[in-house]
Amino acid sequence: MKVKISAKVIAAYSTRQDGNMSLCYGDTSKARPDRKKFLGDLGIDHSKLVGAQQTHSKNVAYITEADLGKGALTYDSAIPDTDAFITDKPGIPLAVLTADCLSVFLYDPVKNAIAVVHAGWRGTQKGIAVAAVEGMRNKFNSEPSDLIAYFGPCIRSCCFEVEADFKKYFPDKVIERNKRLFLDIPAVNNEQLTQSGVKQGNISDCGFCTVCQNDRFFSFRKEQDKAGRLISVIMLL
Ligand SMILES: [Zn+2]
Repeated sequence: MKVKISAKVIAAYSTRQDGNMSLCYGDTSKARPDRKKFLGDLGIDHSKLVGAQQTHSKNVAYITEADLGKGALTYDSAIPDTDAFITDKPGIPLAVLTADCLSVFLYDPVKNAIAVVHAGWRGTQKGIAVAAVEGMRNKFNSEPSDLIAYFGPCIRSCCFEVEADFKKYFPDKVIERNKRLFLDIPAVNNEQLTQSGVKQGNISDCGFCTVCQNDRFFSFRKEQDKAGRLISVIMLL
């Protein structure tokens, strides 16, 4: 699914119908050809893709031409211990892989810079989206108020049941329904971004829940170890 952020950016996330995009989780047997097809249709050379060995950290990596292709064809070559990428270089496709976790796309139309973020609850608790904004501010002099943000598919408060200790981590974003507790991960990220200076009006959300719409998206909660991963990719033109 293409994400409309700007004519100067290619941004998209895949669906289940595009295949499993992970090189290490779920059935990986067709991941390379499926990546080639999905990315190729977007005008992206799959062999240039930059991917991460994601660890639910708050680590942000600045990506340049020297990193092209890291994580494109093998998981071992992906950038280690990283959950967000930033760049101001055109032609570098940055990707995160998710199954329930939130992907966040960021674009600075003034400094012409981008980011993509993998934000599950652990990364969200650590403030990974805020770290990406800080990274763009430090590296590109981005003004948070200029940034355009977009949220991809993830598990949402309809389905993300959590234990009571989550109230400690996310005091006002755990919702009680029928004596069960649910976490609203996009709402936490939305609040974190607006508190960093991103304008509410510049944040869009696809709104899809990976569990409710498991026929269209992979969900770790629903499928456990069998779950594939969808890819969220962004590239400056
Ligand atoms: Zn749901």
